[in-house]
Amino acid sequence: MPSQKPNPTPRPKLSPKLSRTAALGLLVGAVLAARPAQGAPFDKAVIEPLADELSGSRIKREVEFISRHHRMRGSRGYRTVAEHIANELRHAGLKRVEIIELKADGRIFYGTQRSRPPWDADRAELWEIRTARGGGTQRVRLASWAEMPLVLAQDSESAEVTADLIDVGEGTSPADYAGKEVRGKIVLVGAQPEAVSKLAVEKLGAAGIISYAQNQRTAWWKKNRTLIRWGHLDTFAAVPTFAFMVSLQRANEFRRRLSGGERIRLRASVAAGKHPGSYQITTGVIPGADRALRGQEIVFSCHLDHPRPGANDNASGCATILEVARTMSRLIARKRLPPPARTIRFVWPPEIEGTLALLVARPDLTRRMRAAIHLDMVGGGPATRAVFHVTRGPASLPSFVHDVAATVARFVNQQSDEYAGTGVAAWPMVDPAGGATALQAEIVPFTPSTARARSASRPSISTTGPIATSTPTSIRWPTSTPPSWSGPASSPPRRGTCCRAWAPPTPAGCGTRWRASRCAAPPR
Ligand SMILES: [Zn+2]
Repeated sequence: MPSQKPNPTPRPKLSPKLSRTAALGLLVGAVLAARPAQGAPFDKAVIEPLADELSGSRIKREVEFISRHHRMRGSRGYRTVAEHIANELRHAGLKRVEIIELKADGRIFYGTQRSRPPWDADRAELWEIRTARGGGTQRVRLASWAEMPLVLAQDSESAEVTADLIDVGEGTSPADYAGKEVRGKIVLVGAQPEAVSKLAVEKLGAAGIISYAQNQRTAWWKKNRTLIRWGHLDTFAAVPTFAFMVSLQRANEFRRRLSGGERIRLRASVAAGKHPGSYQITTGVIPGADRALRGQEIVFSCHLDHPRPGANDNASGCATILEVARTMSRLIARKRLPPPARTIRFVWPPEIEGTLALLVARPDLTRRMRAAIHLDMVGGGPATRAVFHVTRGPASLPSFVHDVAATVARFVNQQSDEYAGTGVAAWPMVDPAGGATALQAEIVPFTPSTARARSASRPSISTTGPIATSTPTSIRWPTSTPPSWSGPASSPPRRGTCCRAWAPPTPAGCGTRWRASRCAAPPR
């Protein structure tokens, strides 16, 4: 534990979530990279310079930059951010900074995984063509890639299509299409476009897809009907097509109109496609100082890809390990921290496939890796109802590393809780731009739930099979979106009314705003 200071001087303040995460990761890294005999992990000589240097506001600014770019694998937006991070690392004094380029052309394999070529989009718009009052047509724009890239499913291909919309339910089973002629039409489906395209497009000749798939299933699945979720097509589909993603609200309106016999005419214009390129992985190191140990590496990882904005997933993890790198490098340069015994490496790869490609293509890096600290979705806050997890790895890979991570998490919890409860703590870890709520990280075992959260990330790769590395992971999971309504809470709904058509009232009411309409059938 840090020595208690009789008269604590004001500390530079860190943002309440991200900087605590950074502190947590940094402390774990400092311990793992140190000489074994260096001492207790919470030595004041280590914590004080970290508290002086770490900046939650810096992390937030980096999140703002990263989240302005649509960061699909190998895309122009991804490269912009990868180069930005490399520049920041050089500026911070890291060594051996580079962007590792691994060919991705759809033919080369990394292990058992076929590389997927980069995908870029220039334009995508979806219009409805209606009959105007008094005759003629009226065009209404329903979706625009320029405004929200998420409306276009990943791996969509260029198309210029004007066609009728037809509702085929989920769209994954031949029964969904029974008695329906979809050839030349745009199918409205509840499943992911990838699960539909082979049947609807390849086999039955649909002209394109509109999907209201709700992405991953959690307790809050389908709760917010105004959101547009991430969608994707089969990268290697025999027949190229396009798919637009729409909200449940939009889909329900389409379905209501179609079931009433209305004809819906749509115009889709897409300029997008795949092209040969590479996976780009930004990396840099803080060299180890111990001759016997510097060949070993402690790795900080995240994943840099994802649709714009992707602020929590995963600009947050990427910006946080960047701040860890900067802080550690600066403090070592100023001799406020000793250099680590082992080398500390930082990597920013695309999720799963980019990590696997790196580990397969660069066995030299894999061999040197002794432990990894992985950050994915470490932003958010109470409004997202997500729990900050510090997860252990599987029991098949026992390691003291997880105990180090748990000990540091408890320390950060305790300090932030003390500060939240009393206004005083030796290491409060708050930022002028942030709040004062306690972090309350949960230290959780490797369970089906945490395994699932980790499965979308690097640890599922780095902790299994021949690449067995202990990888404590920080993630806010499960995640939810806050209720979209707001307003006075003084008038709770009467029994038998609904907050929203899909949300039955609870004993506590309907959140902060309600609408006393009769319950309707829940949307699909
Ligand atoms: Zn993620």
